[in-house]
Amino acid sequence: MGRRRDSIAEVVKKMHLFDGLSDEQLARIVALCRESTYASGRTIFSEGSVPKDFYIVKKGKVALDANFSARPGSWKRGTVDIITENQAVGWSAIAGSRNMTLSARAIEDSHLLAIDGASFRALMEEDSAMGYHVLQRVVLMAASRLQGTKETLARILSVASHDLRAPLNAVQSYLSVLAGGFFGEVPDRQKEVLIRCNERLSEFSELIDNILDITRFEEGRLPVEPMSLSDTVRDAVEMLRPLAARRGIVLDLRLPPDSVQVLGAPARLKQVMSNLVGNAIKFTPLGGEAQVRLRLEDGQPRVEVADTGIGISSQDLPRVFDEFYRGEAVEASDDPEIDTKGVGLGLSICRKIVEAHGGRIWAESPCPDFNKGSLSVFTLPHMSRVDGERTSVLARPGRPSIQRAGGSPRRQRRRGQAP
Ligand code: ADP
Repeated sequence: MGRRRDSIAEVVKKMHLFDGLSDEQLARIVALCRESTYASGRTIFSEGSVPKDFYIVKKGKVALDANFSARPGSWKRGTVDIITENQAVGWSAIAGSRNMTLSARAIEDSHLLAIDGASFRALMEEDSAMGYHVLQRVVLMAASRLQGTKETLARILSVASHDLRAPLNAVQSYLSVLAGGFFGEVPDRQKEVLIRCNERLSEFSELIDNILDITRFEEGRLPVEPMSLSDTVRDAVEMLRPLAARRGIVLDLRLPPDSVQVLGAPARLKQVMSNLVGNAIKFTPLGGEAQVRLRLEDGQPRVEVADTGIGISSQDLPRVFDEFYRGEAVEASDDPEIDTKGVGLGLSICRKIVEAHGGRIWAESPCPDFNKGSLSVFTLPHMSRVDGERTSVLARPGRPSIQRAGGSPRRQRRRGQAP
């Protein structure tokens, strides 16, 4: 029994989580440890269960799994981290949080030390210096695990996207060659089908680009240069003017007389503009109106895209900037005038790009100018307020998806939003 305690004490002493604690404090922790064994494949705890114990891996390996959902109703299980000897799992039991946020499963026959979370919390309350010390390390551990999760997801997405892209490009080239008549004359109706196939594949390819973009902005750095925001806004609007004309939508562009300069990534800001203007055209019935305005407000560049379209419901407003989110009205629409194509990634990418520039983006509905439709707004820091020497800006950590414009509290209440 004494030898076993000694071997437990050795493991506890090696734990980074308990670095800096005195021998007496370590002995009190050792007294709380129970040994337990898990055969390979056995679940130790499940995502969403109420935590009881905190575990230290004495021998073996434990996988931490999470359920990921890319769209409602479709779940995939992925391994976020592998925990090996002298590492801990189930820290939420000592933090007193209500739910395990991951599942743990032995992937080798494993020997664990289990510490009852409630007893450990009581010990930390009694010895607050120890509690402070341990919880500080728990926070670091949680932060590094979150970072690990993000990196795993980014890696999975980027490998999957690259692998999907190669055969897709090959098929597109074959289709172009066939439709071009290089292997013999193709009747018009068949040619039409081939061209349509190619168009659908281009949409698919765009989706892959969007998925890759999500992972890129997670990495947090975006190369920027001094640029004219006025030119970018104008280019994006002119690019989409033919589409607006085909749908009979009046597209009005209002730019200030002097060019507005920012420190930005021109191609990325054009992507934001074409997403916002594209949505304004897509979600506005034939014969409607869309307005694109750029101005300086208190010296800060501000772009507004207003439309007279179907608008965004108050339930959807807080979520339209989330990945893969599409408004219910759009999903359920059988209105032939509304283009329901899309997967719900455009606005989430816009948010990432704008925030990587140190700016803010939000949406309002109804659009105050038209009393219907919606208004998308983004602001960027003014060039003069940004250090001109910098060549890249750091992505800001997540902000709320919807920031309310400065409208009166009454107007906000009318829109069904909390002031
Ligand atoms: P997608 O266009 O592929 O659906 P987005 O991320 O660009 O994806 O937009 C998410 C959702 O936000 C849309 O499905 C739609 O419900 C809503 N939305 C965005 N812009 C507008 C707009 N101008 N008018 C109405 N709804 C909009």
